[in-house]
Amino acid sequence: MTCHIDYQAPTGLLDGKIVLVTGANAGIGRAAAMSYAHHGATVILLGRSVSRLEVVYDAIEAMGGPQPAIFPLNLESATPQDYLAVASKLEQEFGRLDGLLHNASILGERVSVEAYDLELWARVMQVNFTATLGLTQALLPLLGRSSSASVVFTSSSVGRHGRANWGAYSTSKFATEGLMQILADEHRDAAIRFNSLNPGATRTAMRQSAYPDENPMELRTPEEIMPTYLWLMGSSSEGVSGQAFDAQPPKAKA
Ligand code: NDP
Repeated sequence: MTCHIDYQAPTGLLDGKIVLVTGANAGIGRAAAMSYAHHGATVILLGRSVSRLEVVYDAIEAMGGPQPAIFPLNLESATPQDYLAVASKLEQEFGRLDGLLHNASILGERVSVEAYDLELWARVMQVNFTATLGLTQALLPLLGRSSSASVVFTSSSVGRHGRANWGAYSTSKFATEGLMQILADEHRDAAIRFNSLNPGATRTAMRQSAYPDENPMELRTPEEIMPTYLWLMGSSSEGVSGQAFDAQPPKAKA
């Protein structure tokens, strides 16, 4: 797995690009939205809390980034009609999509498969995988109108190697890795690339709830892991598809 933590993105890397980020209101998604906007992208902020998305919207405007857009959607209750509505709105406003970062996820429980509540398992699969699939499917026509589109799926090291007590979360990330590979193979001759990215241990609310005894100050911040997020969204990764990346060197994997 390749890591581009030392990549230094040129300021105008994403000038003129339209990029959608899911779970853009907090943690890594917020940092990615800010970073993409800082490098010139018009960012569509998708999440379930409008007021929290507005905070990111205001922060992008305050730093002088291109005016973003907000798209409220709860991925836990989202239906195929909702994904089509996102696509239809984007088509009206922008006519195409150049980048899609699937970032939103929930952790579920940290218990054995035997003890796992199956309703919760289904909710985790819905947010982390089914919504990712549905959104991607609905947005493929718009991505196809870009001269060079990048779809980035957020994975985890437990989406690449199974580990005890990671149940639904781990399964959802394995499924995401599979979807990424299938899409890359289906679009071998197209101008859309599909890759996965494992952020590695990063100082966010999700990490804190997965590892409550860990000292968060020893972890990289979301802002510090942005180089690979930028590399995958920008022109340096053109032609690269179907690959699994890490945002941090192997030691910090999570
Ligand atoms: P956070 O919990 O900080 O952020 C998760 C984001 O997903 C939030 O914006 C959250 O919105 C959003 N989200 C959750 N449920 C829904 C929903 N039903 N509808 C819409 N949005 C939703 O997590 P991280 O920033 O840590 O995680 C980002 C990604 O990185 C995830 O895919 C995670 O699996 C992955 N990851 C993180 C690691 C880490 O160490 N932090 C390690 C490995 C992978 P809201 O605030 O409304 O809940």
